[in-house]
Amino acid sequence: MPIDTHAHINFEAFNRDHDEVIKRSLAEDIWMVNVGSKYSTSKKAVEIAERYGNGVYAAVGLHPIHARDEEFSAENYKELAKSKKVVAIGEIGLDYFKDYGKFKDIQKRIFLKQLNLAKELNLPVIIHCRMAHEDLLEILNFQFSIFNFQLKGVIHCFTGNWQQAKEYLDIGFYLGFNGIIYKLDLKEVIKKTPLERILLETDCPYLTPPQEGDKRNEPVFVKYVAREIAKIKNISFKEVAKTTTRNAQTLFEI
Ligand SMILES: [Zn+2]
Repeated sequence: MPIDTHAHINFEAFNRDHDEVIKRSLAEDIWMVNVGSKYSTSKKAVEIAERYGNGVYAAVGLHPIHARDEEFSAENYKELAKSKKVVAIGEIGLDYFKDYGKFKDIQKRIFLKQLNLAKELNLPVIIHCRMAHEDLLEILNFQFSIFNFQLKGVIHCFTGNWQQAKEYLDIGFYLGFNGIIYKLDLKEVIKKTPLERILLETDCPYLTPPQEGDKRNEPVFVKYVAREIAKIKNISFKEVAKTTTRNAQTLFEI
């Protein structure tokens, strides 16, 4: 079954019932990676993952929109990453949406520190990028030219164009797709991206696929993303689930 490679069961929206949501997901054999956005939510993601066996994992990192609120401490994140359930550094990246674009320098500085941390710990990265593909590609291409394929990762919630997609694919990155593919026209990108380089995700509690109306999103709804990708690529749901699951298992070593 599909793996939700980008969930936020560690966020407040799930405070009341996160165990039920996780159990519901595991009952359908849907695994998940809960992604941190700052120290507190990263810690929570690790705590949740530690309580479960196979199927629930964590990523730790400082999201660019929190780059101003938290003093980044590599040591603190390194401590969290000691848990065997931590499979990636994320979510990290660049976000130039509205006011966030006013502190590009801090974002870039913290992003580079976290790329270094990922390399040091030999972990893949989960990258968030909003309205910043040009800068992100410049940084990643530069890293790639020095370190050659040593840095692995995924551009989560990819909403760029095919040219940008191709550049990420060229340096070995995966592209993550979620319910936003029902809202934005990403057909060309999805058609052209090899299935072997696609990861499925929900980004829950956000971006609920339209089939579930205005409900809070959750990992089991990742199947709607698989279904839409199958439709766009004109292949079976099973093939999408099988291949993207293998992709996630390869990237995150789970
Ligand atoms: Zn996210």
